[in-house]
Amino acid sequence: MRRWTPEEDEVLRQCGRMGAAACRRALRAELGAKRSVKAVQHRASRIGVSLFEHATCPMCGRTVRRAKPSGLCARCDGLVRAEARKRRM
Ligand SMILES: [Zn+2]
Repeated sequence: MRRWTPEEDEVLRQCGRMGAAACRRALRAELGAKRSVKAVQHRASRIGVSLFEHATCPMCGRTVRRAKPSGLCARCDGLVRAEARKRRM
């Protein structure tokens, strides 16, 4: 198996939070490197990159597994909705 280059590691660090499949696509698109999802997962854990798919809430800065369609975490999304309801009344 071909060694991972520093450039490839860098792509993993940048794309890790989008998941292994996204890393794989990015490696291919940016460097022309063909890696399997399994290889990506392996390398990521090796260099300490988390492939956990998550989002950062722009309102409270919390990291959540999945943001609401508004881009906010569940808590802030609820707050914003409650606030909007109050304004309509
Ligand atoms: Zn939030």
